[in-house]
Amino acid sequence: LRMLEVIGIQAAQAVLRAQLYEQMERMATTDGLTGLLNHRTFQTRFDDAMAAAKRYGRKVSVILTDVDHFKSVNDTYGHPTGDQVLKGVARILRETARDTDVVARYGGEEFCLVMPETDTKGAHAIAERIRDRVMKEVFQTEQGPLKITMSLGVATYPDHGEAKQTLIDLADQCLYFAKRHGRNQSVTVAQLQGQKAG
Ligand code: GH3
Ligand code: MG
Ligand code: MG
Repeated sequence: LRMLEVIGIQAAQAVLRAQLYEQMERMATTDGLTGLLNHRTFQTRFDDAMAAAKRYGRKVSVILTDVDHFKSVNDTYGHPTGDQVLKGVARILRETARDTDVVARYGGEEFCLVMPETDTKGAHAIAERIRDRVMKEVFQTEQGPLKITMSLGVATYPDHGEAKQTLIDLADQCLYFAKRHGRNQSVTVAQLQGQKAG
């Protein structure tokens, strides 16, 4: 009986250790507010996706998003309400993305998606779907219902660059372009470069 008791205690401790490890891993790889992957995990998962794309001669697209005039949401309704909106945006991203996509909180009110096996046309369609859903969503907050819009930038490997940072920079430039041209839109590298050439 005594021996069974010892085995029981050890088994319970093993389960507890496994649970603690799982919890620690989740805390290290995800963002506390939204539950999406954090910036660091996004970087490594993007590296992995690009390595696979290089090996198999496939495409990978990246979408960067930024909430429009988010500062005014915080200023008008308070930071906790802003947080509720960010949670809602994260849910829309998660629901719109495919299971194989990497969905992460890039920082602050910026999110990113890495989409394996996806060309610019496909990624732009997803970006537009996300933009449309965010635009139509009525976010329920403690301060009442609230609406926002979002701007997005899209870049694709290998069409627009070979290096991860090049693609992120390009998607960011697309995002900036969207901001300067009225917000609430998604912009691709082709649109960006068409503008430069014209
Ligand atoms: P733009 O359309 O040019 O993007 O305008 P913006 O106001 O969204 O841009 P800006 O980058 O100036 O402001 C981003 C704001 O996001 C500022 C910051 O207070 C807010 N923010 C960043 N992280 C969080 C967060 O975790 N929670 C909340 N509530 N606000 C955040
Ligand atoms: Mg921002
Ligand atoms: Mg913003």
